[in-house]
Amino acid sequence: MATMRTAVLADIHANLEALEACLAHARRQGVERFALLGDFVNYGADPVACLAIVRELADQGAAVRGNHDEAALGGLAADMNPVAREALYWTRAQLGPAERTFLDALPYTAELGGAQLVHASADDPPAWSYLTGALPAARCLAAAHRRVVFAGHLHQPQIYHDGGEAVRLFEPTPGVAIPLLPRRRWLVLAGSVGQPRDGDPAAAYVLHDEAAATVTFFRVTYDHAAAARKIVAAGLPETLAWRLSRGI
Ligand code: ZN
Repeated sequence: MATMRTAVLADIHANLEALEACLAHARRQGVERFALLGDFVNYGADPVACLAIVRELADQGAAVRGNHDEAALGGLAADMNPVAREALYWTRAQLGPAERTFLDALPYTAELGGAQLVHASADDPPAWSYLTGALPAARCLAAAHRRVVFAGHLHQPQIYHDGGEAVRLFEPTPGVAIPLLPRRRWLVLAGSVGQPRDGDPAAAYVLHDEAAATVTFFRVTYDHAAAARKIVAAGLPETLAWRLSRGI
């Protein structure tokens, strides 16, 4: 059997420039399929173009829903800050029946190969809780159906592991493969393709090599100025353009 290489893409947020750069990078790594962790839309200027790509990629892998995908269908806007809400109303107006049907069919969690996929936490996915420390990470791992969990939502690349005692955070180095040691459980936070928030404007994604049992975090520089110009031209809040240049 051929080696199975999966690109794990989270929080694309309608950023077409970042998505295309990550896909080109992933294809150079020999990626054959895609794990798509939700928040495909909102914040960026290209929700329809991004969803067209995501729908095609989902056929070669699996996709789950994020809170922004759910909010784009209705509800949830009251929980958002004013900038996110303004962008959400703009996003809703862009989506047609095909986009809404695709988003509405997305599950909260899925499995691909030996891994579980979820946007926020495997412990109650629709609650959209943030994995901001060892305690919520442990809750996520305890609820997971698989030894390896891929999640998004936080917009920061991180990896937790559990060797039977405490859950520990490990800071990944971009481009360096991390062996997923078999006696441990692993929670891989893929970072964000379209709106990184760790101070690095480069797009983030993870390569999962199932045959080698490794994950590799990557950062991909892309034309964030072009993505920012489109946000301003669309009349979306300018802070959404500015933050792309800072990775915040
Ligand atoms: Zn997000």
